[in-house]
Formats: sequence, structure tokens, C-alpha cells
Amino acid sequence: MSPQEVHDVYSQLVIPEDILKENGYLYFEEEQSKRPKYKKDKWSVFSFMPDNGSFLFLKTNSLLILSDSTRKCTRCSRLFNRKSTFFSPNVCRFHPLKTENKNGVIYHSCCLKRFPSIGCQTHPSHVHQQPSESALDQFVQAPKPVSTRDFRSNKVNLVFGLDVEMIHTENGLEAARISLVDVNRRVMIDEYIKPEGKIVHLNTEFSGIKSFHLEKAKSLEQIHNLLFQFMNRSSVLVGHGLSNDLKVLRLVHLNVIDTALLIRSENGNMQSLKTIAKSYLNENIQWKEGGHDSVEDSITCLRIVEKLIHVLIQPIY
Ligand SMILES: [Zn+2]
Ligand SMILES: [Zn+2]
Repeated sequence: MSPQEVHDVYSQLVIPEDILKENGYLYFEEEQSKRPKYKKDKWSVFSFMPDNGSFLFLKTNSLLILSDSTRKCTRCSRLFNRKSTFFSPNVCRFHPLKTENKNGVIYHSCCLKRFPSIGCQTHPSHVHQQPSESALDQFVQAPKPVSTRDFRSNKVNLVFGLDVEMIHTENGLEAARISLVDVNRRVMIDEYIKPEGKIVHLNTEFSGIKSFHLEKAKSLEQIHNLLFQFMNRSSVLVGHGLSNDLKVLRLVHLNVIDTALLIRSENGNMQSLKTIAKSYLNENIQWKEGGHDSVEDSITCLRIVEKLIHVLIQPIY
């Protein structure tokens, strides 16, 4: 296929902006807007919390008035004070893996205990996915193409796979590694990122991040500058559940092929990248001991999309 044809078939899979917005993607209402907007979606547990004052938290029939530093633990669902994480640690008991349903019996896949049961792992503090609203001020957008000859809009360079590994800090989930891969599977960026908040848990089992990785890590601002050397606003980013990757990167981008939105199970639910890779590529990914690998995950997303494209351009007889 010519670069133009490649571009045209990829464009068919770009998810319309209004669907992205309904699914938790942030957007600037106007070009000059300082803070992006976002709609709460039913899939994402990722939300931004008001900076000051108390707010209401609805918890099964009871209204609680909480301070602005109250957060809900992603792992055990307990409410805790984010500011006291390091002073009076609350032991968190949790199950690291999701529940599964086998013949009507729901059980935790980590320890095979039946649901609900007390967590099989402990950690000295709770973790959350609710950054403060002031984090919205850090969001930026890739520059528009500078001219018709902007090499970043070159049809060959237009599509990238993107994946971010995240860790838990006092500020919520933060980006700790970014991988950007082009359609020819060349790794354009693979960098570690220094978190702003104090680290609560590296989540190495899943993120693959170890503390020495972060010693010479780049700041988020350096990462933005690096990214914008390769991509501009017309670049197509391919990823799985990319709205969360973009949130931790503090990036607004609405030119996206999101495999989590594109490929659903028969009942309309989202599926993990691991499940989609198994059914579309017949491959087992994310099985390694050292945690996920953002290069592998972004290449997997690109390959799943390639597979879909082959289906799309197959003549139907
Ligand atoms: Zn368990
Ligand atoms: Zn907890």
C-alpha cells in the first residue's frame, strides 16, 4: 500500500471526537482554554477532585460530607485522608487481580478465594486515582502542523502506538514510563518519567518500574517537548484505554484509535489488551515476571489495528 492508502485506512478507524468525550477523554472547549473539560464516564474510575472546600460523596444511600483531601482507595474501596498517607499509614488489604465469574461463582483470580473476601495482600498505605483539580492546569495539546510541509504530518509518520506505565504517588496515578512506537515498530521514545508526588507504591508487579529506573528520569515537561518533536495535532495515536495514559501524561489529544473502545465483548463490555491480543493475534502478552512492558503493549495495539485494517480492505465476495 502507498503511504496515502495507509493513511486513509487508518483514518477509517479513528474514533469520532464525541465518542471519545463520552468515554473520559479530556478536551479544550476553546483553543485558548487553560483547563480542559471532561465528562464523567461509566468506565473510568479516574476523576479530578475539587481543590478546596468539602464535597459530597454518595455512598450507598448515605451522603457524606468530606474534606477536599478525602480519597477512595482504588484497591480496597476504603475512604482515607490523602494528606495523612505518610503520617498515619492505614494498612490496605486488597486483591491485586480482578474477580472472575466461572459457572456463576465469582472469585478473586489472585488467590482463588470466593468474592467477597478479605484481601490476600497488604500494603502500608492506600492508593487512589483522584488527582486534585489543579492538575488540570498542567494539560497541554500537541502543536498544530506548522505548514503543509511539517514532517510530523508526513503520511508515513502519522500513526504511533503509545503506552504509559503508571505508579501510585500521593497525587494519585502518575506516569513513570512512556513508549512511542511508529507503524514500522521503530521505538521513537522509551523514557522514564519522574513523578511529582511522593511515591506510595511502584506497583512493580504490573508497571515493571523499579526505583533505580527513576533516578535519571525526565520531567513531564521534557517528555512533552520530546513527544512534540515526533507528533503534532494531526498525528493518530493508537493505544488501549488511551484516555488514562493521556490523563497521566497531562495531554489532550483527540485523534485516537482506542482498541478498548473499538473492540468490545459480545455484551458490549470492554476487554483487557491481554484478552484482545489472545483472540486477535493468538498471542499471550503481559505474562512476564517483571511486569508490563510499554513497548510491547504499544506494538501489540498497532498490530491489532493492522489486523482490523486487513479485514477492512479485504474484498467481500
Ligand atoms: Zn486475592
Ligand atoms: Zn486500600
